[in-house]
Amino acid sequence: MTIAIIAHDGKKAEMVQFLNEHQEILHSKNIKLISTGTTGEKAKRAGFDVEALLSGPLGGDAQIAAGVAEKKVDMVIFFRDPLAKHPHEPDIFMLMRLCDVYDVPLATNPATAELLLKGL
Ligand code: PGA
Repeated sequence: MTIAIIAHDGKKAEMVQFLNEHQEILHSKNIKLISTGTTGEKAKRAGFDVEALLSGPLGGDAQIAAGVAEKKVDMVIFFRDPLAKHPHEPDIFMLMRLCDVYDVPLATNPATAELLLKGL
């Protein structure tokens, strides 16, 4: 299965920590990770095999949203920063909307993401 990971700047460290804490399940379930650009770079630097798409503000969220619509993405882990403003807010909403349209599990914080992974 393919899981998309995205983290806003204020949440990137939390994403790397989350991946580290769950690397066993990620490996054992043969999960393919895709991500927005900068999130992917950080995850790669931490040793994860990730297909990094465009950076979020440059269309990365939109690419992941398209993957959801095309049924190529099975789960989205999206650590949003609720305390920051984002120039690509329309893309963020589009991604979340399409997750609801296609009934794709979407976690926007580590507590929910952990429950989703445990449910695999
Ligand atoms: P980034 O994009 O991983 O390229 O920083 C994430 C986002 O801002 O949606």
